[in-house]
Amino acid sequence: MQYISTRGEAPKLSFDDVLLAGLANDGGLYVPESWPKVDAETMRSWRGLSYPELAVEVMLPFVEKSIPREDFATLVQRAYATFQHSAVTPVKQLDTNVYLLELFHGPTLAFKDCALQLLGHLFDYVLERRNERVTIVGATSGDTGSAAIEAIKGRKRADIFILFPEGRVSPVQQRQMTTVNAENVHALAVEGTFDDCQDLVKAMFADADFRGEVSLSAVNSINWARIMAQIVYYFWASLRLGGPDREVDFCVPTGNFGNVFAGYAAKQMGLPMGRLMVGSNRNDILTRFFESDDMSIQGVEPSLSPSMDIQISSNFERYLFDLLDRSGSATAKTMIDFRASGRMSVGQGGWDQAKKDFHAFSLDDDKCLDAMRKWFDQTGEVLDPHTVIGVEHAAQFGRDGVPTVALATAHPAKFPAAVEQALNHTPDLPTHLSDLYDRSESFTSLPNQLKEVQQHVRNHRRYT
Ligand SMILES: *Cc1c(COP(=O)(O)O)cnc(C)c1O
Repeated sequence: MQYISTRGEAPKLSFDDVLLAGLANDGGLYVPESWPKVDAETMRSWRGLSYPELAVEVMLPFVEKSIPREDFATLVQRAYATFQHSAVTPVKQLDTNVYLLELFHGPTLAFKDCALQLLGHLFDYVLERRNERVTIVGATSGDTGSAAIEAIKGRKRADIFILFPEGRVSPVQQRQMTTVNAENVHALAVEGTFDDCQDLVKAMFADADFRGEVSLSAVNSINWARIMAQIVYYFWASLRLGGPDREVDFCVPTGNFGNVFAGYAAKQMGLPMGRLMVGSNRNDILTRFFESDDMSIQGVEPSLSPSMDIQISSNFERYLFDLLDRSGSATAKTMIDFRASGRMSVGQGGWDQAKKDFHAFSLDDDKCLDAMRKWFDQTGEVLDPHTVIGVEHAAQFGRDGVPTVALATAHPAKFPAAVEQALNHTPDLPTHLSDLYDRSESFTSLPNQLKEVQQHVRNHRRYT
């Protein structure tokens, strides 16, 4: 499989180049040159497979020519062995037609582990064969940093430095980053805000000398391999519920549009899917677009579901590319106009198609808390403030006789304050993290100064 940029100007790349490149050099995002197709008979033959076995079948066309099947199967096995549930991503029934797909059994209790655990092994494998090393830097407001750290810890050819705003992440989030104890992991508490952290990371990437000197890399949400790994669980859930001989709908609490785009990709590959439903909180740019063709940037307001607090969904560009008949020049123009004017227009034809592909829904914080109470009363299930948006979407817009799968993107213990507010009790951490508050922390506090942060990275990466 070869990959092309959504902006049409960057060179075609193989899977391993795309993995390491992240963003394309024309500012676009890499997508497969074509969608591999799976027929119904093949899908039926996958029904008895374990999650890692299925993962190999679904992803193999995307890595073919870069990674031989046997090697890939080994990487996949290792990646999902870290999950605490033997089914990896179990499906649980909540109501007659509403199902929960639990994606939070990985090491950091968020769905991002599903992709990042595999990414860590893919990095090591590809870097080993090229005899290269990388230094990964990233900024986090709390949630993604720990998933990236868990993915890279113990990897041979990558070191990771995660910048977080000192004193501004929740105690669970901080401890998940600072108690890891691996020589290639560095948690850096910056005296500043999340925006300061992000600006420092951007400045490090913009410094070409530094970038080359330490072989800077990232594992952010626009990396194609992350989308690829997320496609698997759409097949998995569908096969549990009668697919491919039955349509299944999916509800996805959405931020950067990566997770729901993976659902779209599964559908392009031939998985029978009815509606793909995009959930948002009060930061509802996507809901406004799918409901009334209003993709206009407004300020980001903090909410109970911080991982969905977004202004622009970076992965939307991948869908836009398809919507514009895979024209790189049209996609580039639309994105550049969007950045300049704060408003995106896809034309009447584009919007009509978008409404067919997705259904949107948003829930503000008060309704979110009400829904958490309602589902707890009805089922005993404690839902985190992201997941509940998808579950409520399923309940309100699901179709009679069609199973609707709501993606559970985080374990409720990851958001204890919101659960406390809704249910007056805090959820327990799962056993593998129950001693989180007893573990000793290790992190370095640094001023909000580029030179000092760069020097710290130089001094502490393993290879010089
Ligand atoms: C990252 C995240 C999301 C948003 O996923 P995208 O792929 O960015 O749309 C939703 N919920 C939780 C808990 C997350 O961590």
